[in-house]
Amino acid sequence: NTVYLNGDYLPLSEAKISVLDRGFLFGDGIYEVIPSYFGRLFHFQEHMERLENSLATIRLANPHTREQWLAILTPLLIGTQDQYIYLQITRGTAPKRDHGFPENTPPTVFAMCSPIVPMAERDSGVKVLTMPDSRWKLCNTKAITLLANILHRQEAIDQNCAEALLVKDSYVTEGAASNVFAVIDGVLMTPPKSSEILPGITRDVILELAQKNGIPCKEESFSLAALQTASEIWITSSTREIIPVVECDEKAVADGKPGPVWHKMNQLFQTYKQSLA
Ligand code: PMP
Repeated sequence: NTVYLNGDYLPLSEAKISVLDRGFLFGDGIYEVIPSYFGRLFHFQEHMERLENSLATIRLANPHTREQWLAILTPLLIGTQDQYIYLQITRGTAPKRDHGFPENTPPTVFAMCSPIVPMAERDSGVKVLTMPDSRWKLCNTKAITLLANILHRQEAIDQNCAEALLVKDSYVTEGAASNVFAVIDGVLMTPPKSSEILPGITRDVILELAQKNGIPCKEESFSLAALQTASEIWITSSTREIIPVVECDEKAVADGKPGPVWHKMNQLFQTYKQSLA
C-alpha cells in the first residue's frame, strides 16, 4: 500500500512524521476525502475548492496548484475499483511546541488511498441518535481536529446507531460525519450552507439531481420537532453515499423502511456516477 508524504511515494509502514508535527500536537491541519469511481476522482474541482477554503480559513498557504494535486493523487489510485483519497495538510513540524504559527516551516502533506467498502446496511437503512451539537463555530472547515465529532459518533455507536444527528438551538445541523436530508411534507429538505455545517460535495450533487429531476427540494433549516414528522431521513457522505435512516431516537421513520424518494435518488446518484465513467 503506497502512500504520499512530502513529495515521496512510499509504503505505508515507512511513512513517518515527527512527534513535533502540529497535526499531532494541536490538530493544526485540514483534510479532504475524494472518492474515485471507475478510476476517476469524483467532482475533483469541487473538492479542491473546499480544500482551498479550508486552507484559507486556517491561514495556511496551499502548497500546490490543482493541476499539481491531480498529478500527486492520481498515482495513488489502484485500478478502477471504488476507492477514496484521504489527503491531509498540517502546519508542519516546528522546532518547539508553541501555539503561534511557526516561521519558515513547510507544511506536512500526506495522502493515501483506500477502497470504498459499501455499507452493509445501505439498502435496509440505519438507526440514528440525535444529540446537542457540541462542536466549535467553524464547522464549514474540514479541520483534522475532530474530537467533538468522534465523541458524537461514539455516543451513537454505543446506542447501536450508525450516526449521530446533531441539534443546535433546536435545529438539526448535520451528522457527525455526514450531511442530513429529510422529506418533510413531501419536500426534500437539507439545512442551508453556513458555518454550522460542512458543505458536503455529496449534498450538492443530490440537490442538483433533485432539481434536474423534478423532486421538490429546499435548502432550509428544520427543527428536531419537524424531523420527527419526516417521512424519510437520509445521511450523505463521500464514502457512504446516500444512506436511508429507518429509525431515529428509537422511533421508526414512517414505516421503518427506506422510502420512495431515497430509492429514486439512489438510482439517480448511481446513474450519475456511471455517466462520469
Ligand atoms: N459533514 C461532516 C461533518 C463530514 O465529516 C462529512 C464528510 N465525512 C460530510 C458532512 C459530508 O461531506 P462529503 O459529502 O463531501 O463527504
